Amino acid sequence: MSGFQNFFRAVQNVSARLAVLAGKRCAICGTVIEESGPGTIVCQDCSTQLTSRKGGYCGICARIYALENSSTHLCFDCRNRSFSWHEMSFFSVYQGLLKDIILRYKFSNDLGLGKVLGGLLIEAARNNANKDLDFIIPVPLHPKRLRQRGFNQSLELSRILGRDFGLEVLGDVLVKTKHTPPQSKLERRQRLRSLKNVFAVKGDQLKDKKVMLVDDIMTTGSTLDGCSRALLRAGVSEVTVVFLARAV
Ligand SMILES: [Zn+2]
Ligand SMILES: [Zn+2]
Repeated sequence: MSGFQNFFRAVQNVSARLAVLAGKRCAICGTVIEESGPGTIVCQDCSTQLTSRKGGYCGICARIYALENSSTHLCFDCRNRSFSWHEMSFFSVYQGLLKDIILRYKFSNDLGLGKVLGGLLIEAARNNANKDLDFIIPVPLHPKRLRQRGFNQSLELSRILGRDFGLEVLGDVLVKTKHTPPQSKLERRQRLRSLKNVFAVKGDQLKDKKVMLVDDIMTTGSTLDGCSRALLRAGVSEVTVVFLARAV
């Protein structure tokens, strides 16, 4: 083998190694994605763990039933109460890898994870894409919580959704006026009470508009319902709620 061929082979080896190093890594677990299309940001292994829920849930509050292949129907609670939104879409159950990456994203604002979650939200929201919606509105954080965390994950996800749907995101129209303890630390009855009238709408640009209200996790539905009621009070004609995960 000539000197030139050796040199050429050495260059090829180095460039192959560099390709792996510079290669795309899964935004979730960091392994190199070997064969991928231009839009792929998640490896095959992670992607198979993130599938949308197809059925077996309540069509209003997304309460999960054991069997995924059963049809969508009203749960006992929803026959006796009325949540204020008109349509609901969500990605899946708050568990496993989905729960893991939502938590990681909430406390890191990792751009790659944001893209992954945004993609899942787009998939969830497409169920409602035939609607002529006017705006996307994120569930707000109280300014105090926003200072602690540094960003509002629902607003970031709304922006990704807004770009995909070609809809304007209104990030500061719906506001949280009262600081409340984290919902996960309250009993159910306290939660329902604690969120009465803590959300308000600024200005009057929402009159007769149809909006998509976006959040990451739904637990009892009281946060989304509080937001939705504030929007309806401000003249919104229809609220579609879209969230990533239903806590069980
Ligand atoms: Zn992965
Ligand atoms: Zn229900």
